[in-house]
Amino acid sequence: MGINIRDGYYKNVSDSDWNDYKWQFKNRVTTVEELEQIIPLTEDEKNGIKASFSNFKMATTPHYLSLIDTDNPEDPIRLQSIPSEYELYKSPIDLDDPLGEDHDMAAPNLVHRYPDRVLFLITDQCSMYCRFCTRKRLVSDGKHLVDKTILSQAIEYISNHPEIRDVVVSGGDPLFMSDNKIEEVLKALREIPHIEIIRLGSRMPVVCPQRITKEFVEMAKKYHPIYFNTHFNHPYEISDESKKALALLADNGFVLGNQSVLLRKVNSDVNIIKNLMHQLLKNRVRPYYIYQCDLTSGIEHFRAPVSKGIEIIEGLRGHTSGLAVPTFVIDAPNGGGKVPIQPNYFMSQSPDKVIIRNYEGMISTYIESDTRDCSCSTAEQFKIPAKKSNIGLSTLLNGERMTLYPHYSDK
Ligand SMILES: *Cc1c(COP(=O)(O)O)cnc(C)c1O
Ligand code: SF4
Repeated sequence: MGINIRDGYYKNVSDSDWNDYKWQFKNRVTTVEELEQIIPLTEDEKNGIKASFSNFKMATTPHYLSLIDTDNPEDPIRLQSIPSEYELYKSPIDLDDPLGEDHDMAAPNLVHRYPDRVLFLITDQCSMYCRFCTRKRLVSDGKHLVDKTILSQAIEYISNHPEIRDVVVSGGDPLFMSDNKIEEVLKALREIPHIEIIRLGSRMPVVCPQRITKEFVEMAKKYHPIYFNTHFNHPYEISDESKKALALLADNGFVLGNQSVLLRKVNSDVNIIKNLMHQLLKNRVRPYYIYQCDLTSGIEHFRAPVSKGIEIIEGLRGHTSGLAVPTFVIDAPNGGGKVPIQPNYFMSQSPDKVIIRNYEGMISTYIESDTRDCSCSTAEQFKIPAKKSNIGLSTLLNGERMTLYPHYSDK
């Protein structure tokens, strides 16, 4: 498997240093000169790294580098962490803020797009900068760190919006901050009575699993329920250190989920994804989303067609545990939000039956009941005030509206 980086360039590093995230952070590789001493680089990579200084910085942890198979020029870890000249290519449709997040900013670093949950970006730093990052426009520039003012503005906004019950704490990588800083955020959120769940989105279990320390876990578990969503893209990323980190989180009551990004030449293959999903489940991580690549500038070379994602779901659903099947989503450009995409299993319908097909191609009839009354005796008790529910097609179904008009129409 090529050069053994841990026993090569890093052979004089003690195990206690190697396993210390502070050592990993401090020794992140950020220059061509250093990286060249660790693994031979191609001209494309050297040019890509040089260009990335003024664009989207390179940084990678020694741990993540040590997972590279140096014999393979298209190694999935390599492609995700080492810049290529392709990043300079701008396609005509590329967007700086493909998800319209800036438009949905309710307060600095706080994105409020959905009715009952918000996204809170608490740092723009990461231990490894994924070359396909969708938030390139703000990640790595050091201008989006959360200070006391930004934190108090976000907390004030959330406190004033009782409909918010779920806060996704992300970044950058929130775990690039110190435990004390993270605790400030968790504590402030937990003090808001209407916050039911907190989610942490972090790539540390992949790129710097040493960051998941006993101290971190002991601190964070005080603020349960916390859902911990991580981001594995390829089976090679599940190292022994990662397994330990995931076990520590699971043992301490964090509910683990994973989101992957569909990346051309990295994981654009059904068997790679299936293996990854199985390995995640063995480590108590439930696959959550698989994302179609966004239209961020400079990541065109990572974009696989949407049909590849559909093909992958076709190859999972029914063929393997339902727990191993994530939802494939396109985060719709300009703030459309996540839209689920899947193969068509629904084939036709008449008033008394629906026609469906399964993963084997068996086509079945499901006969509807003659009784259609679905009113529940307890429904009244769970009713949400109209103000909060009056969005979207569900308002056509519940009779609040007859028609939805596009906002630019005269109606
Ligand atoms: C993804 C996302 C969420 C969380 O969405 P879920 O589908 O509930 O996981 C919330 N806010 C924003 C802006 C997001 O992009
Ligand atoms: S960890 Fe997340 S925010 Fe950081 S570079 Fe990777 S994808 Fe972007």
